[in-house]
Amino acid sequence: MQIQIPEKVNKIIRTLAAAGHEAYAVGGCVRDAVLGREPADWDITTSALPMEVKALFGRTIDTGLQHGTVTVMLGQEGFEVTTYRVDGEYEDCRHPKEVQFTRSLTEDLKRRDFTINAMAYNEEAGLVDAFDGIADLRKGVIRCVGRAEERFMEDALRMLRAIRFSAQLGFVLEEKTRAAITKLCGNLKKVSAERIQAELVKLLTSPHPEKLREAWESGITQVVLPEFDVCMACGQNNPHHIYSVGEHTLHALEQTEADKVLRLAVLFHDFGKPQVKTTDAEGIDHFKRHPEVSEELAGKILRRLKFDNETTGQVKKLVWCHDYHPALTPAGVRRAVNRIGEELFPLYLKVQRADILAQNPAMQEPKLQALQEVGQLYDRIRQEKECVTLKQLAVSGRDLMEAGFASGPGLGEILQYLLELVLEEPKRNRKDRLLQEALRRYKISDSANEAFYDMDADDRI
Ligand code: ATP
Ligand code: MG
Repeated sequence: MQIQIPEKVNKIIRTLAAAGHEAYAVGGCVRDAVLGREPADWDITTSALPMEVKALFGRTIDTGLQHGTVTVMLGQEGFEVTTYRVDGEYEDCRHPKEVQFTRSLTEDLKRRDFTINAMAYNEEAGLVDAFDGIADLRKGVIRCVGRAEERFMEDALRMLRAIRFSAQLGFVLEEKTRAAITKLCGNLKKVSAERIQAELVKLLTSPHPEKLREAWESGITQVVLPEFDVCMACGQNNPHHIYSVGEHTLHALEQTEADKVLRLAVLFHDFGKPQVKTTDAEGIDHFKRHPEVSEELAGKILRRLKFDNETTGQVKKLVWCHDYHPALTPAGVRRAVNRIGEELFPLYLKVQRADILAQNPAMQEPKLQALQEVGQLYDRIRQEKECVTLKQLAVSGRDLMEAGFASGPGLGEILQYLLELVLEEPKRNRKDRLLQEALRRYKISDSANEAFYDMDADDRI
């Protein structure tokens, strides 16, 4: 089997070989190259010790010397070169306490998580596939290297990684690998939030986010995202719905493009429903105020998983507004853009679309039509560059102060009042008219009031 290796990677491998060392491309990049996918990065494994690697290349970065990793810089690009190693004793289902370097490639491949991730390649030796990774790639199977239970006892994160790779590649879990996850998933609670976050994001932004269902079936979400299990158990006896809250969420995820903020927002959009569920006399379920409760839960979960503030803020806002339906008028949509924000509004439309597509198909048509209309009204607002934010308002806080208003929080209130008038009617966005209106409404200057009433009625707001 032949693999196309980038020239720079080959150069590193050849340089190491010329100095008497072994070196191979290894892991994810070999897997992806065999599958014809573009590898995210090319990792190199070598028999050379870190100091020996550093001596051979002009520019290197000590990325993780104690783990054997040196980053070799070629131009702007960096390549991680890691010494063959075996992992020492594992502590508490997490990181190995220490690593030992070895001169054996097979030993290095043996420590890797799955057979498809345990292949190495260079042009000289061709493919080194000691654990039948190619066969599993062909079959579409995620299988642990060695005994699954042992491997998951060493590092519990591998259980979530198994689901993540099955979601990225559309693969199934091999039977023993699956059984071991069901048995040992409780150990995931010992894994750091940062590592879980990274795998969860990769799972969610993969071509198969609905594989979250497998994480649920095998008990993983019970440990890392128990709120989802509550959603899976929450029925929705309501004409708009045909699925439980959890199943609806999985179907909505499938209808969402693979963007991190979007997929997270869709994941959380109905998480509050179980808490607010009521059933009326006819037996119909209702979920009043669920967006606010979902928003609060999303914030809690994102903090727990150590997400950054920007992601958290955007996701919360999208969850909060996911069920907001503006009046189908230009003014209604301008108001919606103002409340939701220009940056998030296009994403809000996408969340709504995904939500609708995962509801009762018999009732989708009018909802999709209304959504399309909102989209068209929005496009026109953008084309016309109509004012939808304070920034675009023809009057600023400074203008108000120059007109005699005292500085302070009162200014914000006046500006918001003026903005509401302009959202209603864009033609009102003229400095002179808005200042007059501010003076009239907030009555600080009698002379200005007189000036206002001297105007033709048509010129007034
Ligand atoms: P991606 O495309 O997401 O980068 P990847 O397979 O390269 O996928 P990484 O997390 O970058 O995954 O890890 C690189 C390689 O290191 C893996 O292919 C695997 O061989 C090994 N590896 C990574 N994490 C573990 C782990 N927790 N246990 C065992 N081996 C691991
Ligand atoms: Mg990688």
